[in-house]
Amino acid sequence: MSASYDPQNIFAKILRGEAPCVRVAEDEVSLAFMDIMPRTEGHTLVIPKTPARNLLDIPADDLARFMPSVQKIARAVKAGMAAEGLVVQQFNELGGGQVVFHLHFHILPRWPGVAIKPPGGPVVPPDRLEPYAARIRAALAAG
Ligand code: 5GP
Repeated sequence: MSASYDPQNIFAKILRGEAPCVRVAEDEVSLAFMDIMPRTEGHTLVIPKTPARNLLDIPADDLARFMPSVQKIARAVKAGMAAEGLVVQQFNELGGGQVVFHLHFHILPRWPGVAIKPPGGPVVPPDRLEPYAARIRAALAAG
């Protein structure tokens, strides 16, 4: 039997406003915020409001409504962070490297000669993440 969605996961708490985040953007179907343990400068997460563990259990209709938000945030991260390119990552279940069990896409800006750091920290405080969120929000506003 496959595992079920746990509404006490940290991203569900962020969605409900019960836990803080450095917010980038929100619409009817998605929330984007800065990763608390960024693996690059500007490392952004995009999550659906649908309570899904990962790609394996989200209803296809909800996924179809959500994916344009991933594209929109990816474009804004690339522009706002003046990146040469992006890595988009998404992990499924423990065996696939997933740690937080609410579907999320990592948007990792890339520049030549700058490596992606390994996962797991250190935690970066909100005041050091906010300047990146501001750059990405500005890129969104500029369209
Ligand atoms: P994954 O489940 O894809 O392996 O990784 C979960 C990601 O969520 C990690 O990159 C981690 O740094 C991030 N993360 C874990 N807890 C929090 C949190 O409380 N707030 C934020 N903004 N990110 C978190």
